[in-house]
Amino acid sequence: MTTPDLARRRVTVLGSTGSIGASTLDVVSRHADRFEVFALTACRQTEVLFRQCLVHRPQVAVVGDAAGADWLASRIAETGLSTEVRWGPQALDEVARAAETDIVMAAIVGAAGLPAAIAAARAGKHVLLANKEALVVSGQLFMDAVAEGGARLLPIDSEHNAVFQALPGNYGRDPKAAGVRRILLTASGGPFRRRSLHELEGVTPEEACAHPNWVMGRKISVDSATMMNKGLEVIEAHWLFGAAPDLIQVVVHPQSVIHSMVEYADGSVLAQLGNPDMRTPIAHALAYPDRIESGVAPLDLCAIGQLNFEAPDYVRFPCLDLAYEALREGGSAPALLNAANEVAVAAFLNHEIPFLAIPRVIRRVLERAERIAVSTLDAVLEADAIGRRWASSLLH
Ligand code: NAD
Ligand code: MG
Repeated sequence: MTTPDLARRRVTVLGSTGSIGASTLDVVSRHADRFEVFALTACRQTEVLFRQCLVHRPQVAVVGDAAGADWLASRIAETGLSTEVRWGPQALDEVARAAETDIVMAAIVGAAGLPAAIAAARAGKHVLLANKEALVVSGQLFMDAVAEGGARLLPIDSEHNAVFQALPGNYGRDPKAAGVRRILLTASGGPFRRRSLHELEGVTPEEACAHPNWVMGRKISVDSATMMNKGLEVIEAHWLFGAAPDLIQVVVHPQSVIHSMVEYADGSVLAQLGNPDMRTPIAHALAYPDRIESGVAPLDLCAIGQLNFEAPDYVRFPCLDLAYEALREGGSAPALLNAANEVAVAAFLNHEIPFLAIPRVIRRVLERAERIAVSTLDAVLEADAIGRRWASSLLH
């Protein structure tokens, strides 16, 4: 499926050194006729970024701080590459909205990725959104930026990409008008699906990061283990598809073969299936509406044998409920939820708090933190800061 006369589309990968970033570059490199890389960005992994620059020859590379930029610039100078090195959040915004880029993969982890994702939306880019925290923290603002900029928003999260594929092509963010009865988000259940509450007390970061089906960054791996990942995805689905909280339901499906489903008024349930490999949704969104090779092995249903389903357990995994509560409350509650989760997950990964303290910290932050109106990016960032301050104070 080559398209020789197609102008090559220029891609910026925000968070290129992460799990989604690397998968994106893998797909991009299979289609040199379609894509070229404009910019790559990383926070601290400058060596990985340097190696990516050698392979993908971006025009711009962005790192987190000046020292990293000095190191990278001197390495790049030795190679004869013309890649320009910049650093800091401002540079992330610049490469996200640059005239020289068509497609922006938003794959920075956490609320840190929000300003650049909004910049890409306002600039009317094809925004490939992996950074679910951006929608959780600032759903209305983000969707407004997409509308104002005339951006095309394509979900990368496998569940939302599946829902997008199962909805009609002309879906206008109105479930009723499309005859949608329910959006069914599938969840693997994570590495602790079968652990008792008592067993969950002692689990380690290493166990939490050993996901049975997906290879992912450490933060989202812990989110999968607490099921906060599914909670964040419920909020993400609300904003992406204009669906009320009650319309979005979670089904545990341990094989991670069905990536999500849409149920229609006539009883039809449409599902998207595939091997659990993020290169499928990435390839779908990169080439949309075309279909291209992703490198993912064909799905062997006979080898898989069976697909199982069960209801989520809200007692062992209270994070899912906390996310529904924050979504129903609205305003700055989802930003507080996300901030508290980021702080608590980082503390758990640093062996500072036990696994079961993660939902406790989030619940207390939601109980105590003051609410503010979140109609501007500054206000959203302030809500995020409030959540972080409360969570940190509860940890110490
Ligand atoms: P990761 O930890 O592997 O990579 C994160 C990337 O963000 C790295 O390139 C890192 O350098 C960059 N980064 C981190 N902090 C930064 C900061 N403060 N400023 C600038 N850059 C920063 O994470 P990942 O697993 O690739 O996930 C990325 C995003 O995609 C997350 O929002 C995650 O929820 C979402 N997502 C990931 C998967 C997956 O399979 N990995 C699936 C669905 C959604
Ligand atoms: Mg997902």
